[in-house]
Amino acid sequence: MIEFDSIKYIAQSEKTRKSSLYKEDSLLVNLFKHIVSRDFDTQNRIEFLETYSKKIFPRTITINNKENYLLWDTHFWSYFEKFVSILLGLQKNINKEPLKNCFYHNIYKFLSYVMEVDDPIKSFALAKFSQKFSITNFEEEAYTKRELKDFRNINFYSKLFVFCHERTHLYYKFKPPLKRKQDIQTLRKLIIQYIFLLENVEEFSFSFRNNTEKQKYFSYLGYLYDLKDMDLIEEVLCDFFAYRESILYWKQILPNQDVEDTLMALQTSGRMCSTIQGFLKYIMFDWKYPYDNSNYSIEKYKENLNLLHSDGTIRNEIVSNLFAVDCFNRLGVSGICKDYLSGPYIDDVNYLICDCIFANSKTEIDSIMDDIAKMKFSKKQMLDEKDLITGWNDT
Ligand SMILES: [Zn+2]
Repeated sequence: MIEFDSIKYIAQSEKTRKSSLYKEDSLLVNLFKHIVSRDFDTQNRIEFLETYSKKIFPRTITINNKENYLLWDTHFWSYFEKFVSILLGLQKNINKEPLKNCFYHNIYKFLSYVMEVDDPIKSFALAKFSQKFSITNFEEEAYTKRELKDFRNINFYSKLFVFCHERTHLYYKFKPPLKRKQDIQTLRKLIIQYIFLLENVEEFSFSFRNNTEKQKYFSYLGYLYDLKDMDLIEEVLCDFFAYRESILYWKQILPNQDVEDTLMALQTSGRMCSTIQGFLKYIMFDWKYPYDNSNYSIEKYKENLNLLHSDGTIRNEIVSNLFAVDCFNRLGVSGICKDYLSGPYIDDVNYLICDCIFANSKTEIDSIMDDIAKMKFSKKQMLDEKDLITGWNDT
């Protein structure tokens, strides 16, 4: 994601991790450490490393060609959990204002971190602007016990899914190419089978909103089958095997849970996970265009967003359904989650992104920047002030 000096990054985030309020679930940490301790030979060891920084999405790195780290940025996961609870809340028939306030507060804080290297004054201004949106604790009164359980499950499954995804990347890096070739063949066979099931079997078919959507879906399946983009294929393989592995671990953790429920929960979490990562990336990269170009219209942006989103959505949808086909073959579970392509989260996320990017915040943020300019702060002072506001402590 953002390039950085790996050794320095690890040393620094180790310090911040110690002062962080967010602690990862110890059951997960122990499970992850246990899994990676068995991976690879002594030359290609992986270490699972919890970090706390504002710089990255989950990723793996290799230092000096021999030390491999699966970096687990708990700062990212604390954001993730907030967004899961916001998205679940938006589906409910409750007062949505506190949820939206919490969303904007966190998004402007997130943008403040994104901008701190290139534009410290804007970073400071965004941090100040984030305070305009109050955060109230909406969780307790808004969620039933059942929903809180869903919330915890989504977080748990998502983390398992992301961990297995990142680990599969390392797997391909170090295992002989034959393994990858075999996995590609598995994927292609499943694509053929999925097309058949989609067209002939009720449990697997779903109604597209229109013909264009249907054509796009099928052409994307063809695009994957023809291996047109090998980087994309690796991502798809990592997602697919992450699903396959997650269900195995989940069966070990909860042996009595119905396998169909597990499949549905995994599909929902995998999709939620991709949706949240996707929208953070859109916000991160797209925010500056409409901000800097007053003639960049919301209609134009929506057009692009729909295009991008439908690509991302189709990929998530297809991979999670290929996994359902795989479960059908191996475990005899039939059926897929059908509510995603036209699903509520996507609409909510699209709405929130547009609203956030075109919220007429430019005038206000510009005026905060004018005030900051008058203070004649040094770059360091601005960033320190910003850290105080956002509650970030990396000293
Ligand atoms: Zn990946």
